[in-house]
Amino acid sequence: ATPTSIMVGTGRAADLGVLFRKGDALQRLAEVCVVAFDKTGTLTQGKPSLTHLSLASEFERAQTLRLIAAVEAQSEHPIARAIEAAAAEEGLQIPTVEHSTALPGFGMQAEVEGHTVLVGAARLMQREGISTDALEGDLRTLGARGETPVFAAIDGQLATLIGVSDPLKTNAKAAIDALHAAGITTALITGDSRATGAAIAKQLGIDHVEAEVLPEDKLKALQALRTRHGKVAFVGDGINDAPALAEADIGIAMGTGTDVAIEAADTVLMSGDPMGVLNALRLSRKTLGNIR
Ligand code: ADP
Ligand code: MG
Repeated sequence: ATPTSIMVGTGRAADLGVLFRKGDALQRLAEVCVVAFDKTGTLTQGKPSLTHLSLASEFERAQTLRLIAAVEAQSEHPIARAIEAAAAEEGLQIPTVEHSTALPGFGMQAEVEGHTVLVGAARLMQREGISTDALEGDLRTLGARGETPVFAAIDGQLATLIGVSDPLKTNAKAAIDALHAAGITTALITGDSRATGAAIAKQLGIDHVEAEVLPEDKLKALQALRTRHGKVAFVGDGINDAPALAEADIGIAMGTGTDVAIEAADTVLMSGDPMGVLNALRLSRKTLGNIR
């Protein structure tokens, strides 16, 4: 490609809301074989809401929800916003929290009104030796629906299983279909549970799914895809996604995402529309003169 064709391509991309931030991003994108996606905020709207709450015996709904909401008020995870909103909707008074700790990839821990409260994934309960057997049936139901299961324990006792649902973006399925038609292999890399990740991948027709991936292991998941399939683009929006955006052959951030993700990316989709990946790919191939 000539410098002129690259300038023209970059300009056309800008008209389509695709910003190529780094010099050779437009050229490199044409060589990509795999596009790996983050889930929350990238393929889903990133605005989850609470759909389900089952209690382990002994626990009372309002008290349980207000303690959990207090912990989540300290978290930046989108899940936390869903739980806070549910508590607010029920008119619950949220207590203040002492000593909260974010446990990346697992959840949160905090002291509230003299109770130790843990909120997070099943693997957080496993790590703390708290059995989730009592709520196993509900767990399966949530996973099959593609909803995110959130467990909470109070003073070492399993208290509740909450279901959180985050609708897919309107264009998510169309974007995956179009990538496949363009000869691209698709993948989903998520910290969410295996069942939830598999259900979302199935809804969208995504080829490969890596679930329960800890933040520090997202890089390994990308490297494995690269070894098996060739050059990889990673599409993400969160603080957690920054290392993967930097490691991928092309990092594509959602313009609706965090500044940290945008800074780490080569390319930005201004509107956060997953179809932007396809627009960017088409322009890149066209500019390089290898339209497929
Ligand atoms: P992802 O970006 O794919 O959601 P994370 O590493 O942020 O991955 O989170 C992985 C999992 O850890 C989440 O799906 C959730 O189960 C749990 N988790 C993390 N933070 C929280 C939180 N604040 N509240 C509840 N669960 C959480
Ligand atoms: Mg995300």
